[in-house]
Amino acid sequence: MSGGDPSTAAVFRAEARSWLASVAKPDGLRDYGPTPTAQDVPAGRAWQQTLAAAGYACLHWPTRWGGRDADVAEQAAFAEEAAHAGVPRQLNIVGPDLVGPVLMAFGSDAQRERFLPRILTGDDMWCQLFSEPDAGSDLAAVRTRAVRGDDGRWRVDGQKVWTSGGDGAEFGLLLARTGGPGHGGLSVFVVPMDAPGVLVRPLRQMDGESKFNEVFLSGVELAPDALVGEEGQGWRVATATLGRERLSLGANAVGMFRALDDLVAAARQRNRLDEHLRGRVVELWIRVWQLRATWERAIAEGAEPGAPSFSVLKLLTSETQRDIGDLGVEALGPDAVWSEDDEPLVHRMLVGHAQTILGGTSEIQRNILAERVLGLPREPVRPSA
Ligand SMILES: Cc1cc2nc3c(=O)[nH]c(=O)nc-3n(C[C@H](O)[C@H](O)[C@H](O)COP(=O)(O)OP(=O)(O)OC[C@H]3O[C@@H](n4cnc5c(N)ncnc54)[C@H](O)[C@@H]3O)c2cc1C
Repeated sequence: MSGGDPSTAAVFRAEARSWLASVAKPDGLRDYGPTPTAQDVPAGRAWQQTLAAAGYACLHWPTRWGGRDADVAEQAAFAEEAAHAGVPRQLNIVGPDLVGPVLMAFGSDAQRERFLPRILTGDDMWCQLFSEPDAGSDLAAVRTRAVRGDDGRWRVDGQKVWTSGGDGAEFGLLLARTGGPGHGGLSVFVVPMDAPGVLVRPLRQMDGESKFNEVFLSGVELAPDALVGEEGQGWRVATATLGRERLSLGANAVGMFRALDDLVAAARQRNRLDEHLRGRVVELWIRVWQLRATWERAIAEGAEPGAPSFSVLKLLTSETQRDIGDLGVEALGPDAVWSEDDEPLVHRMLVGHAQTILGGTSEIQRNILAERVLGLPREPVRPSA
């Protein structure tokens, strides 16, 4: 993939915009972001089906698997147009963006034939079973264990947490320990979420929604062909496609501009648009434009989602989203506590902070930039499990 020809991307953008404006949307579909709640799943699946039928699903997948072989510019344009139209760009992020590319790169032919078509159409939703209570940023400390029996079957025991969409998913991509400590002892598996021994417990977030789950795995039996790639190759598999969520940066900018407009309207209504608030709004508005311009330049230069320029953008975008959320609450003043009309601004503040954690926290992004881009000394490695 590369930045591609800008004129091709512009034609694609215009086609996508007109399709998004005219196509019938499933009942109950809302722009729920990268992960649906369990209640959003039926409309999200129907939407994925609509996208697949029109050739807008899994854009980056090769045509052999129903994708469009789209370059970064086209993918980013679609994400932005979907945000303008107020719809999610796909059912959820894990199947199309993580599992699909993983299976294409590391899976067996049988795994690809079985799973890819159903991800494309939304018949199967997937979740990502990586983080654990003591393994988040330090993912190599994963303790969930998979032990192979004499019959070749695997037995899995452990606990996962922060599993987005786990309560609506048919399958999970599991990172588990099959060997000794560190990266080399990890492997990746496909887990049917209805397998005996899998317990999914939804977690209620402070914004009132329930997108996260705890997942307990107790003596879960997996067939030999549940292993993805080779035993001990888990770290390579797990990190192969990290960073794809960064393609949504333009879409995030759409949301940030909208939030700034709402914030100004709310402050004006309450006579709170004083000099201080005006100055902060202008500062954030400039930051969003700078981010958008940097994002467009990264795409035009053909940067891949894992490139340092996208790492800088992930860091700065998430912190700008957080700051806009916080300023929204300042604009509302005491109304933030009780006014239901202003719920979207309060909600934005509550989820804004999550952006600086998911997909690598701000501190981890700064470590990456310090070490890999600026060439500063590496931080000391602490022993993992
Ligand atoms: C919205 C959202 C969706 C998510 N979805 C999923 C999902 O579907 N599946 C899944 O597996 N996980 C998911 N996660 C979990 C996410 O990957 C972790 O939250 C993230 O990796 C951080 O891990 P942690 O929460 O354990 O925090 P920790 O790693 O315990 O970090 C705690 C604090 O210490 C800081 N810190 C840690 N290490 C260092 C260091 N070396 N240097 C400096 N500071 C450091 C961190 O920046 C953070 O501030 C999701 C998280 C969010 C917010």
